[in-house]
Amino acid sequence: MSLFTPGRRWQPPFFPFKKEPFRKRVLRKIERWIKGPLFGCRMCGNCLLQETAFVCPMECPKGMRNGPCGGSTPERCYVDETRPCIWYKIYDRSFKMGREHMLLEVLPPLDWDKVGTETWGDVIRSMRKFGSGSFIKDRFSSNREKKSQSWEAVFQPVRQPSWWKGDSLYHPPAYEDPFSKLERELKSGKFVITAEVSPPLSTATGKLKRDIAMVKELVAAINFTDSASASPRMSSMACSKIAAELGADPVLQIAARDKTRSGLQSDIMGANVMGVHNVLCITGDNARIGPTPTSNTNILDMDAIQMLWILRRMRDEGIYLDGRKMKSPPELFLGAAASPFASEPRFQALREEKKINAGAQFFQTNLIYDPKGLELWLEELDKRNILDKVYILAGVTPIRSNRMAQYLHHNIPGVRVPQAILDRFEASREDDYEELGVEIALEIMEQIKGLQGLNGFHLMSVGWEAIVPRIISEAGLS
Ligand code: SF4
Repeated sequence: MSLFTPGRRWQPPFFPFKKEPFRKRVLRKIERWIKGPLFGCRMCGNCLLQETAFVCPMECPKGMRNGPCGGSTPERCYVDETRPCIWYKIYDRSFKMGREHMLLEVLPPLDWDKVGTETWGDVIRSMRKFGSGSFIKDRFSSNREKKSQSWEAVFQPVRQPSWWKGDSLYHPPAYEDPFSKLERELKSGKFVITAEVSPPLSTATGKLKRDIAMVKELVAAINFTDSASASPRMSSMACSKIAAELGADPVLQIAARDKTRSGLQSDIMGANVMGVHNVLCITGDNARIGPTPTSNTNILDMDAIQMLWILRRMRDEGIYLDGRKMKSPPELFLGAAASPFASEPRFQALREEKKINAGAQFFQTNLIYDPKGLELWLEELDKRNILDKVYILAGVTPIRSNRMAQYLHHNIPGVRVPQAILDRFEASREDDYEELGVEIALEIMEQIKGLQGLNGFHLMSVGWEAIVPRIISEAGLS
């Protein structure tokens, strides 16, 4: 067990794929001998320990390097239930040590050329460049500012390579005119509705087209999930293209789970020329909750925050991740998922701020059944002064049965169904479940509609698209 990451189990490190010079191999061995027992180091070769309060984030089975996923809880990781969420520990320790501001810096995805090798070589090179003598002298200086400046001068280039240049600043969009109907309506100050239409389970598009036609005049935009719950369906890209052809404004969801960084950049340009401008970046449900046999649950190529950072720079700076310039950059309105009930509201608020800094312009939240909890989360966002930097659409899903209520509460990461609602379903007759579900959804919408910072609703009917027009009408939003 490692000393600085309590509960951390020993895991085999990555090994390099190529033969390295003797000195590098020696340095790698020393680094592994020291950081292995202390931090449970897996030799990712791209060390982030200083930013994560000296808890190694590579413990996370999703390989998240910029904070927890929407399913983070203090009790357990939903991918590996035998251990707690490592990111909860990182947040908890960072807040206790007063280092939470360090969690805001947008950190790069792994440089896979470095995986399995040492990070100390980079540190030594950076120190030499700065001047080893000056660095050591500054360490002993009583001037705290000088100390931290020289530390940053050495370590910042190590963790932020020139192809990434991540920071912890807000970058306002570098354009004025909206790219989509959704963006136009949100900018105009309208209280908007978006709806989710489930992608078909086969190549048949009849129901998909009927659902799109049914809701398109009632909502600002229509979302298509990207293999939700890690289960295969028609792609979000194909559904978005069909929606655009039918005159609707699609929201393309992209799950990092199924993408590499090159695939993301290629897909986004393809989507753009098909009339898709709204893009929702999510890390995606882990394969563990998908159908068996379970596919790769291990490290992702990038997370949602890194996707946002890559896409924002493509749009605003006209560059690929590798720095190549592009003639005609994509026109994107970027969104992200927000999870008000995962971990603690103050932790989540920091995570949402990081998403906004990376490029998120709108949030669609996880399912809301607890108005008070939503209010607390919004208050935390307000404390961080970010409510005016993002549009927030609250996720609403009518529950269709007692079983669904129980399933959502116990199995879906980041969803909390209060006991009072569970009790109402327990006390209801089976024939009345759907009516009760609609009644509860309308009650919640009524309670949260006026909350400061809320810009609309995102209706997720989970295959029950026919109920969407009724909910919009009875909520007085048509
Ligand atoms: S972040 Fe990477 S290099 Fe640093 S301790 Fe963790 S696995 Fe090792």
